[in-house]
Amino acid sequence: MREGIATCRTWVVKIGSSLLTNEGMGLDRDAIAGWAAQIVKMRGQGLRLVVVSSGAVAEGATRLGLNAMPREVRLQAAAAAVGQMGVIQAWESCFSGHGAHAAQILLSHEDLSDRTRYLNARSTLSSLLDLAAVPVVNENDSVATDELCLGDNDNLAALVSNLINADVMVILTDQDGLFSADPRKNAEATLVRTGNAGDADLERLAGTGSSLGRGGMITKLSAARLAARSGTHTIIANGREPDLLLKLQAGEELGTWLRADREPVTAKKQWLAGQLTFKGTLTLDQGAVSVLRRHGRSLLAVGVTATSGEYQRGEVVACLDESGREIARGMVNYNSGEVARLLGQDSGRIAELLGYAGEEEIIHRDNLVLTK
Ligand code: GLU
Repeated sequence: MREGIATCRTWVVKIGSSLLTNEGMGLDRDAIAGWAAQIVKMRGQGLRLVVVSSGAVAEGATRLGLNAMPREVRLQAAAAAVGQMGVIQAWESCFSGHGAHAAQILLSHEDLSDRTRYLNARSTLSSLLDLAAVPVVNENDSVATDELCLGDNDNLAALVSNLINADVMVILTDQDGLFSADPRKNAEATLVRTGNAGDADLERLAGTGSSLGRGGMITKLSAARLAARSGTHTIIANGREPDLLLKLQAGEELGTWLRADREPVTAKKQWLAGQLTFKGTLTLDQGAVSVLRRHGRSLLAVGVTATSGEYQRGEVVACLDESGREIARGMVNYNSGEVARLLGQDSGRIAELLGYAGEEEIIHRDNLVLTK
């Protein structure tokens, strides 16, 4: 019996393209019907469930008769526009067979990086769950650009888990979970049944193989780490197992269970940590690094030795140590020109240096999150 699962009320279920589209052969309606039936059953027991469904590009490529998965962003975007129709139709028809509604939510990087849009997405998801509809989320691939796409849906599922404070994120794959070695090459490979989401040793396990599938485990582990920020546990399990979700809910020890091993951080800090980009950087001296790391304090100008990039007050910047490694992210109280004038200065001199008295800190601790 898997401890902890019984208390999980809010679930994010991520299903990858190869499962959804029968390895690119076309949407697997029977499989989708099976997951929908399980989700409806769980919902009937008062659970809140969000589906993160891939498959748009793969299904679009099939429908458009493209020979292979498109590599060019413009073709991927076009294929996604066609394929998403099929993906959402399949979910809607499977859910409506049970008198339930699917709700399409397409998110882009900007929706999650802009604080207002992020809060809007959160409130829409929570309203849908209150109304007992089942949100079916995907990246808005048709408008995503290469540099600013959320990338894989494992990452998207983790961000959605943060958004709704999910208790558990289930990543359905075509493997039984995370193995101690590549099961296709090594007969001795054993399934890792349980671990901590933040355990660096697991990453080494996932990193040793070179085949595509095991490379995929790395993104799943980094998604698990990101999900853990909202106290969300992760299960990586085989989506082909019949009634998998119901079995997991009943406590069956299928797949790999990665516990959220740290205290959940506040919603604002999760949002900060989930940012893919930032407007500038601040370099901190050693003293400031240790004050941030060990004591969780605010960042003061006296510990900042350099700034780069152009940013406005309220924008997100990365804080680097002296070797250029990112250690934290935060929302700045001053714009880049002002910070340049305050480098290394005592906070007491801010009014004199800037001509007005602003906040005492460059980044307040409530707006700062450690990333390493
Ligand atoms: N959003 C992509 C799609 O629906 C999938 C991304 C992924 O494979 O993780 O086609």
